[in-house]
Amino acid sequence: MPYCHWVIISGCVLQLQIRIYEFRRIDKFATGAPGARVIVTDTWVMKVTTYYLHVAQQQDIHLTVIDSKQHELSPDSDTPVQILTITVASINPNVKSFDIRLNSTDYGELREKLHAPIRNAANVVIHQTLSDLFLETFKSHVEVNQIYSLPSGMELEPCIGCMQVHANTKLLRLCQDEGQYEGECQQCYCRPMWCLTCLGKWFASRQDQQHPETWLASRVPCPTCRAKFCILDVCLVQ
Ligand SMILES: [Zn+2]
Ligand SMILES: [Zn+2]
Ligand SMILES: [Zn+2]
Repeated sequence: MPYCHWVIISGCVLQLQIRIYEFRRIDKFATGAPGARVIVTDTWVMKVTTYYLHVAQQQDIHLTVIDSKQHELSPDSDTPVQILTITVASINPNVKSFDIRLNSTDYGELREKLHAPIRNAANVVIHQTLSDLFLETFKSHVEVNQIYSLPSGMELEPCIGCMQVHANTKLLRLCQDEGQYEGECQQCYCRPMWCLTCLGKWFASRQDQQHPETWLASRVPCPTCRAKFCILDVCLVQ
């Protein structure tokens, strides 16, 4: 019957219009690489790839973080990034589950946009800020620096930043042999007062937040005596 068809078709058109309307709304959340765009509206979670459109209704889905890959700050990449893989599984048997990938710094916004919690099956530590991400890079660089041996008789005190753990860093001007840094850093004479995490947070907080590509090569003042140091000058204490 033509009339019935028309009702069905106009119903579809209406649904399509609703979807287009939602899609255009400012408060949708979009993330992901151009070939695998993730779009979340109040009702839908979509993944748009070159050849396929995955769509699941928010009320039917469970999201689970299953994996994370960390790409550290390096000469090849300007910004440290953590890429999370999240499975979107629907209770609707007609909707195949699919994976979405997003930058960990977008995770908070995604969570806000969803009506259901995201499970973290793999206990992935999610770094939601640039400073969090940088901290990982900072630590891995410091770990390859020279170790500072605590003079006998000196005891390590609690870190004055967090008071949670013992101070375990010492600033020594070690970069002086690297010609490009010469004349810039200064010797700090402070005893070990900060843990690596607190010192890393300090280092990150003193940076130009718009230019993370400059962070590794920059100098910041010692939080106690203000002598300038770079990442090469940070030693773990043993
Ligand atoms: Zn601390
Ligand atoms: Zn100092
Ligand atoms: Zn230095």
